[in-house]
Amino acid sequence: MLGVWHTVLNMLKKEFWKNFKNKPTIQLLQGDITAEKTDGIVNTTTRNFEMAGGVDKAITRAAGPGMKEACAQYGSMEPSQVIITEGFNLEAPYIIHTVGPVYGKENGHESELLAACYKNCLWMADQYNLESISFPVISTGIYGYPVDEAARVMAHSIGGYFFDPAHMNSLIKEIHCVVFTEEKYYILETIFDELFNRNDT
Ligand code: ADP
Repeated sequence: MLGVWHTVLNMLKKEFWKNFKNKPTIQLLQGDITAEKTDGIVNTTTRNFEMAGGVDKAITRAAGPGMKEACAQYGSMEPSQVIITEGFNLEAPYIIHTVGPVYGKENGHESELLAACYKNCLWMADQYNLESISFPVISTGIYGYPVDEAARVMAHSIGGYFFDPAHMNSLIKEIHCVVFTEEKYYILETIFDELFNRNDT
């Protein structure tokens, strides 16, 4: 299954779009994020880089032991912060690591922190001139964020990032959103259809 949308939010002025060098698309895919061949894969880790949920386990297994050793040099990080490492044994040359908020445990700052995860990952991708990036649906596993709420934050933060004139020269062309299950695919598809213009018909 594959859905493709423009990353400009429906509620924003279309005229703005013509100023962009690149017109990034957001693609929704069902599968295992470790198989992605984009320039950067986003990993959802923990504050001290100890093993987190399904995405972290799968990426650690596929990338090899060098990944956790590289992360450990940073000590720790707070929710929404990001670091970047090489991709080790993955096809993707880079892994961008972030810590998502735990739903109901961040004093009401969950959506703000979740939005910052996406924006900081995109910012880091731009620092390394990446042209494509793959995201999991951050915090919707063991961190308990309801998928529909998380998908709305994801869409608004990605759309908002590219609406910011500071990011007009971004080289990012493709944003992959990788979901594990068919059920989550349909939830995200409904929300993306509501918020973005579809580009695959
Ligand atoms: P978090 O700690 O941010 O909640 P998880 O890794 O537990 O992170 O889950 C985040 C989301 O990623 C969940 O929706 C989960 O179903 C999904 N997921 C788990 N494994 C994979 C994988 N290998 N590829 C893509 N998505 C995955």
